[in-house]
Amino acid sequence: MNQLDGSALSEVLEQTLDRHGRSPQSLLQILLDLQRAFHCVPRAALPVLADRLDLSQLRIEGLVSFYSFLSPTFQGDYVVHLSDNITDQMSGSRDLASLLCERLGVKPGETRKDGRVSVRFTSCTGMCDQGPAALVNYLPVTRLDRKRVELIAELINGEVPLEEWPKELFRVESQIRRSDVMFFRKAFEPGAGLRASLDRGGKSLEPWAEDLPPHDARRHQLERGGAETLKEMYSSELRGRGGAGFKAAIKWESVRDAAKGDRYVVCNADEGEPGTFKDRVLLTDCADMVIEGMTICGHVVGSRKGVMYVRQEYWYLKDHLEGVLERRRGLGLLGKNILGSALDFEVEVQFGGGAYICGMETAMIKSIEGRRGIPRRRWPMPVMQGLFKRPTVVNNVETFACAAAISARGGAWFKGIGTEASTGTKLFCISGDCGRPGIYEYPMGVSIREILRDCDGQDAQGIQVSGPSGTLINRSDFDRAACFEDLSTVGTLIVFGPDRDLFAAIRNFALFFQHESCGLCTPCRVGTTLLANYVKKFERGCGSPVDVSEMTNIAGLMKTMSHCGLGQTASNPITDSLSKFPGVWERRMKTTEFIPAFDLDWALEEARALTGRTDAQAHLLSEEA
Ligand code: SF4
Repeated sequence: MNQLDGSALSEVLEQTLDRHGRSPQSLLQILLDLQRAFHCVPRAALPVLADRLDLSQLRIEGLVSFYSFLSPTFQGDYVVHLSDNITDQMSGSRDLASLLCERLGVKPGETRKDGRVSVRFTSCTGMCDQGPAALVNYLPVTRLDRKRVELIAELINGEVPLEEWPKELFRVESQIRRSDVMFFRKAFEPGAGLRASLDRGGKSLEPWAEDLPPHDARRHQLERGGAETLKEMYSSELRGRGGAGFKAAIKWESVRDAAKGDRYVVCNADEGEPGTFKDRVLLTDCADMVIEGMTICGHVVGSRKGVMYVRQEYWYLKDHLEGVLERRRGLGLLGKNILGSALDFEVEVQFGGGAYICGMETAMIKSIEGRRGIPRRRWPMPVMQGLFKRPTVVNNVETFACAAAISARGGAWFKGIGTEASTGTKLFCISGDCGRPGIYEYPMGVSIREILRDCDGQDAQGIQVSGPSGTLINRSDFDRAACFEDLSTVGTLIVFGPDRDLFAAIRNFALFFQHESCGLCTPCRVGTTLLANYVKKFERGCGSPVDVSEMTNIAGLMKTMSHCGLGQTASNPITDSLSKFPGVWERRMKTTEFIPAFDLDWALEEARALTGRTDAQAHLLSEEA
């Protein structure tokens, strides 16, 4: 189906170069196109790309090795990525993976000898409310069960083209369980925020108008709007919804006040935190609001260019998003002379390559520039030196959607919702052990107990708030309020029922961080591996209080010495569970004495797995010995 031949490669290469442009910044998008077309980045493409983009081949290879969705070797006509998030595992994904591999005659991580199929694991596909999930040739398949897995194996073994597969397999539902005043319910009319922003009277000159000659008629129009819109943003007290809670208006004003020249607006739609899927639903159901928020931001800060950086797992939304952009151009809400004004603003959708770290704004900026997504020093801040070293606003999907509503309905209206220090409403994505997983919108300050009641998860023993990098809470925290002044959250709640063994979640999160550490700094690179090894040691029943103390020391080092947020938060599941659920660890301590971590027989486990040996001779000491 996707076997490589020279003419096909040339044709796809030319098309993708035309589509993305022949500049080094396009490199990641070009490689992703090649990957999707050939299920690998063909080696023959590298010298051509190096020549056309004026790059070294080494730099291209560096990108291929960095992003998990790029592969230098052919992965098969059918590439199955099974979501390995804890919520998938809680729904039985590991058994389903074994069944699929058995039916397909392939081992995880390998490509079948006939080149037909490979099965791999990926951290999370953003379908936690409808898992177990997978991607088949980069398209999401949800609600896997034995019947669906048997069907998928049959379709693959029968070489049925994906276009002929039952559409039902690929159905992704938004599962909006509760809406409030901001999102959904058709609460927002496209253009309402922009009209309010452009029409409102203000005296200050917009940044992009500085170069217009004094007699230019457009100056009059430009002498209105942006400054007043910024005031509305200030009065709304909107805080970024991506986690840090920084006031959006301050970022916007910093870029607006920057020196003359290009500036950018970046929408962070790379929600890679396991358990998080609200951006997926916003981009599906409220894309107009998000793009309008970006456009209004462009208006306020004087930018002509926005980039929406979407995680690779949501590639299936590409046509939908580009359709919304096209419709908005037709309505005069995007492109040149927006709504008849002098405002020009365009939005480009770019995709990530499968790297959790690219959710960090400095790493994302590098990824958009076509580089490896390694975080850089935070100073100078992106509002001073961001994309292409120019002042850049980076906001989350939900933040831009809120900005559109604020512009349309005013900052005072927004500030009237929620709490004193946390204004507006908030989206929550709920998954795990509850009867009604999905998306919930509440005014900021809602209690965890109320959310649990609504999603039918009242008997939970604990919740992972804000994903693995967030906080693990127990029942004593359920009366806390979800807001910046109490329990700060990006809105991700993974519910653990009363019978759930939390150790499985801690193990999953430890391996996740070990895999996702970019490796730049030692505390995180080494620390995540050490913590993962300690967790495995407890799993084998060899843990002791000495190991607890070691883990705590390592966690402390990682928190204070790591270069970026990933390393600073990667130990949270371990430290939180030690303090909130000590029994999870104590149950696995068979002794108070220290037991060495190294066990030669256990160290051979990987070799046994690789060779498929399970017999007694494959162990260092047989049972009898
Ligand atoms: Fe990379 Fe981890 Fe260091 Fe961040 S903390 S730069 S992810 S190694």
